[in-house]
Amino acid sequence: MKLEKAFSEDVKLNITARQADMKFAEGVIQSKFNFQCPGKNCDAPVTCANLDRPLEKRKRDPYYIIVGEHSSQCNIAKDIDNQKKASKTTMDIYKDSDEYIDHAIRINLQPPSTKRLESGDLAKNSEYSESRISRGRVIAGKRKIQRTKTLSSLIDAYLAKESLIVQLPETGLIDLNNLFIEINGQNLADFEDEFRIYYGKAWFNKKEHGYSIVFDKTLTSGDIIKRPSTYIPISKLEVSGFKRFNLDTLERTADNKPKMVFLISETGPRVKDGHINIWCESPEYLDYRLLEK
Ligand SMILES: [Zn+2]
Repeated sequence: MKLEKAFSEDVKLNITARQADMKFAEGVIQSKFNFQCPGKNCDAPVTCANLDRPLEKRKRDPYYIIVGEHSSQCNIAKDIDNQKKASKTTMDIYKDSDEYIDHAIRINLQPPSTKRLESGDLAKNSEYSESRISRGRVIAGKRKIQRTKTLSSLIDAYLAKESLIVQLPETGLIDLNNLFIEINGQNLADFEDEFRIYYGKAWFNKKEHGYSIVFDKTLTSGDIIKRPSTYIPISKLEVSGFKRFNLDTLERTADNKPKMVFLISETGPRVKDGHINIWCESPEYLDYRLLEK
């Protein structure tokens, strides 16, 4: 979720990403991870994406993205919830400013309760056309609707070594192979704040209020070397219509056997207080495959 302002832990004020950019250049702000939700009584972690990228290498200006759970009283979280309820398409990561590209695939991260447009289902259904028309362009009277794939279909295509071009929101095209990043000792500074699918052998662990997923291989940041992890609270799983991650299935998934876990994230992994985390926005951002023996 995007934010206009975030609380800067270094400046101790709510500031815009543009202000953060200036303070980072001055050396007042030390890290793109030193931000929190500006909501009252909320310290949900915020990353200022692209803040540490040199100007010439930026594909977009720095912006805030919330990468953790809000407190139960957070007013910002309530606003976001209301927005989501008001608009069925809020969950679409693409905007009208993302151009229609004929040969590219888009990533579909919408919950299954909203209508999916899978690869191949091209505009046959007029209902789709109506709801999706803003995504495409009307060319010579024909409605153009770009093909989309869910995370699961993207994983299948990647494992089958298909050659595909994927369109990312705001930043353009990427080869399917470069969209996937195997976690294997890299330095966090090497990752870009763009959608990527991080993957590797990992374990599901049941916690009191959710599941943590810990990867087998490490990542590094300065002198910190850690196995990255992610977390998904039960509250999010309960509202998700995603069958793969209903609670019964997850109960069986946390069986101490490692899985090949795939996690899509808009920003690179985050280092904070000695831990390396990858934020899981919702169950649709996570998938796994059983490992062959
Ligand atoms: Zn909050």
